[in-house]
Amino acid sequence: MFFVDSHFHPVYSRFKDLFKTKDDFESVYGVDAIVKRATDANVGCMLAIGVELNDIPELQAVTEAHPQVFRTVAVHALEAAKHCEQYTTDEISEILENACSHAKTVGVGEIGLDYHYEKESRKQQDLLFNLQLNLAREQNLPVVIHSREAIDDTVAILKNHSGVRGVIHCFSGEKHFAEKVLDLGFFISITGAVTFKKNTELQETVKYVPRDRLLIETDSPFLAPIPFRGNWNEPSFVVYVARKIAELLNVSEEEVARFSTENFLQLFSKINL
Ligand SMILES: [Zn+2]
Repeated sequence: MFFVDSHFHPVYSRFKDLFKTKDDFESVYGVDAIVKRATDANVGCMLAIGVELNDIPELQAVTEAHPQVFRTVAVHALEAAKHCEQYTTDEISEILENACSHAKTVGVGEIGLDYHYEKESRKQQDLLFNLQLNLAREQNLPVVIHSREAIDDTVAILKNHSGVRGVIHCFSGEKHFAEKVLDLGFFISITGAVTFKKNTELQETVKYVPRDRLLIETDSPFLAPIPFRGNWNEPSFVVYVARKIAELLNVSEEEVARFSTENFLQLFSKINL
């Protein structure tokens, strides 16, 4: 029995400037340090999530250094406008396709729509969301979906790509969204947001989702669960997400570890532990 963090972002160059710490950065927040703490906490497998073409070599290096870390590749919704300026769609496809052929690339993500921060880049977001769903189908890889204030459009696009498997990451909690994506065969992944007292809608939805469709994640370095709220998040904290779900479902933490790990390995079937 072990826990899986199905979604984390290693603290590589993209985030380094955010980490204002008097501690030595590498020894506290470097990938080696967070993977070691996760392993000590019985988190036996971690999925490092790509967000831009630039992170491909860096995440590749992380997976090569750590047998229990796998990764996905993608252009995130909030990176869509920038990438459409810098690259042609053919170039984006070719770079992602090459990265998909690596043994430790086990999915396409995170991809999707974000109208909270970037309504004005809807067109580019839509273009790259569709492009990457097609890529996932061709490569026979599952997708990791990011959807923020864009439920209707997300569902409509996913319906056009029926047959693509995947997970809605950092699920926001709306029951009607859960119903629709469950109908499409998707998994739902829960972050530390479920531990926040005010988040009763998400807590109720967790009880509604069938157990064979639930995954757990940290989405670190952000969104630390209680009792670490306000600090940097890391994969070892996924245990606190499992603990809260266990409490909501009235089952043991081990049971949550068992079914969420089983679901994860079923979805990301390229992983061979
Ligand atoms: Zn993420």
